[in-house]
Amino acid sequence: MAEHETHYHDVLVIGAGGAGLRAAIEAVNSGVSVGLVCKSLLGKAHTVMAEGGVAAALANVDDRDNWKVHFADTMRGGQYLNNWRMAELHAKEAPDRVRELEAWGAVFDRTDDGRILQRNFGGHKYPRLAHVGDRTGLEMIRTLQDRAVYTGIDVHMECTVLKLLTDGDRVVGAFAYDRERGRFRVFHSKAVVLATGGIGRAFSVTSNSWEYTGDGQSLAFQSGAALQDMEFVQFHPTGMVWPPSVKGILVTEGVRGEGGILVNREGRRFMFDDIPDNYRSQTADNEEEGWRYTQGDKSARRPPELLTRDHVARCIMREVREGRGSPHGGVYLDISWIKSKIPDSEAHIRKKLPSMYHQFRQLADIDITKEPMEVGPTTHYAMGGIRVDGDTQMTTVPGLFAAGECAAGLHGANRLGGNSLSDLLVFGKRAGEHAARFASGNGSTDLPKDQVESASRWALEPFERPAGADGAGPFQVQHQLQEMMQRLVGIVRTESDMQEALIGIQSLREKAKTVSVAGNREYNPGWHTALDLPNLLNVSEAITRAAIERKESRGGHFREDYQAKDPAYATFNIVMRQGKNGEIEITRETIPQLRDDLAQIVEENK
Ligand code: FAD
Repeated sequence: MAEHETHYHDVLVIGAGGAGLRAAIEAVNSGVSVGLVCKSLLGKAHTVMAEGGVAAALANVDDRDNWKVHFADTMRGGQYLNNWRMAELHAKEAPDRVRELEAWGAVFDRTDDGRILQRNFGGHKYPRLAHVGDRTGLEMIRTLQDRAVYTGIDVHMECTVLKLLTDGDRVVGAFAYDRERGRFRVFHSKAVVLATGGIGRAFSVTSNSWEYTGDGQSLAFQSGAALQDMEFVQFHPTGMVWPPSVKGILVTEGVRGEGGILVNREGRRFMFDDIPDNYRSQTADNEEEGWRYTQGDKSARRPPELLTRDHVARCIMREVREGRGSPHGGVYLDISWIKSKIPDSEAHIRKKLPSMYHQFRQLADIDITKEPMEVGPTTHYAMGGIRVDGDTQMTTVPGLFAAGECAAGLHGANRLGGNSLSDLLVFGKRAGEHAARFASGNGSTDLPKDQVESASRWALEPFERPAGADGAGPFQVQHQLQEMMQRLVGIVRTESDMQEALIGIQSLREKAKTVSVAGNREYNPGWHTALDLPNLLNVSEAITRAAIERKESRGGHFREDYQAKDPAYATFNIVMRQGKNGEIEITRETIPQLRDDLAQIVEENK
C-alpha cells in the first residue's frame, strides 16, 4: 500500500469557499466532527473575489421587495428551468442568512438610518444586493472563516482531492495529496460535502481563479452522481480586455449598478438598441430615467445596461463583430460620465468602487474616475453542475452532498448577479445540516484499500512516463483545451463547431494520458496540472455534449444555428450520468410542475 496519512471525520467538506465554510459551520454545530479540505490556503477561495454583493430581499432600500419578487426574478432569469424548490428556499432564507452573517461580525455598507445598504443589479427588480463596497466576498470569507475556526473544524489546507472513495453506492471519503510535499492523504468519513466551485479554467478567457478546474463536478460524476444543465455557462459581459496579461479579470456589475454606461467606439449607448420584449416594461427608454433609477428613484425603470448578463454580453459581441468595438476588441464602460451629475464624483466612485479603481489604476494605468474602461465578455460562472435534492443538497449518490457553484438547480439557464453568494449561504447551511444528519444516522464503513491503492498508482503515473513523443506537457494540453473551448464552445455556438470540439477533446484525452512530468513531488506545478487535466476534460466534454443536445438558445446558452427559444425545450433539464464503460449517458428529465402558489407568484410578477 502506498504511504499515506489517514484522517477520520464524520463529515468531510471539500472546498473552503462560502459554501464549504457555511456547510462546515452547520455540520459542526450539529455535533459531528468535521474536516475541511481546500486546494489553496484558507481564506484564498474564489469567494474572496466576489465584488458586487449578496442578493436577499431585506427590503431595506425599497420596501416593495419581498421573497416572492426575488423568487419570480430568479425564475425569470433562469428562464424557468430552475429547480423551483431551490429558488423558493433561496428567496425565503437568504435574508436570514445575511442577517446571521451580520450577527457574526460582517460589516456591510449602511443606509442613512443604519440598516444594511442594498444596491441594484441586473435582473433584480429592486435594489437587493447587500454589499461591502466592491469587496463583499472578502468580508464574507473573513466572517465565515473566523466563525469556522472558532467552532473547531480540522482544516487541511493546500490539499487537493483526487478521488472520492466509495463503498457500494455510498461515498465514504476521499483520496488527496498535499500540494507542498506531494504526500498522500486519505480521508475516511461518513458523509462528504462537495463545495469545490466552478469550471472557468476550461476556457481561455475567464474571471475565475486557477482553482476552478471542475474538480467537484468531475469527482461526483465518476462516483455515479448525475450532472445537469452543463450547457449553461455564464459569460459575464464585462471583463478586462487590455492589457493581454489581465484579459478576463472581472469588472463588477456594480459599476453599472452605480450608473456606469456602455458605449461603442462611436460613443453611442448601444444597449438602448435591443431591449427584449419580456423586459421592455421594466426598462428605461431614455438616459435620464435610467440614471434616476440608479439613484434610487422608485418611479424610474432600470437602465438597459442592467438587463440580464447573457443579453448584455451578446449585445457587446454584436458591436465588436460589426466593427463598432474598442481598439482591443471590447466596448467602453464609463462611470466617469457621472461627473455631470454628482458634484464630487471622483471621491464617490473611489468610495463605491474601490477595488475597480485600484484594479484599473494598477493593471491598465486607467483612472476610472476620469476615463472609460475597455471591457468585453469573460467566462464567469457555471449554472450547471451536480444534481442535488433541493431540500437536503444530497446528490444522487448516498452520503454525497454538494453546495455552491459546483451544484446545479437554483439558477436554471442563467444566474442573476448576487444570487451566488446567497446560494452559498442558504445551501451551504442546508448541505452541512443534512450531511451531519446522514453521518449521525449511518455507521462507518471499511476503508476501501483497493481504491486507495489504485488512486495512488494513478497519481504517480506522470512521473513514470517517458517524455511525450510530440513533447506536449500538461501545460500545453491545458492551454490547447482552453483555447479550443473558447473558440468552439464559447459565447456563440454551432453544431459543427461543437462536433469539432468533441473530436478535439478526445484527442486531448489521449495526450493527457501520456503527459509526463519532471522533478519530484514537492511543490511541482507540472504534476498538479497533469492531475487537474482529467477533470478539465470531463467538464469540457459534459458542457459540449449538453450544448449539442440543446438545439435552441436560452439563457447563457446561445446557438447561432438555433437562435430562438424553443418551447419544447422549456420542460426538461439535460442530465448526464456515467455509463458502464465510463461514457456519458444523456437523458432529458422533466421538470416537476410548478406548485400552484408559486405559479401564481410568477404570474403576478410578470
Ligand atoms: P469557491 O469559493 O471557489 O471555493 C471552492 C473551494 O474548493 C476552494 O477552497 C478550493 O480550494 C476548493 N477546491 C476546489 N477543488 C478542490 C479539490 N480538488 N480538492 C480540495 N479542494 C478543492 N457572486 C455573487 O453572488 N456576487 C458577486 O458579487 C460576485 N462577484 C464575483 C466576482 C468574481 C471576480 C468572480 C470570479 C465571481 C463572482 N461571483 C459573485 C460568483 C461567486 O463568487 C462564486 O460563484 C462563489 O464564490 C463560489 O463559491 P463556492 O463556495 O461554491 O466556491
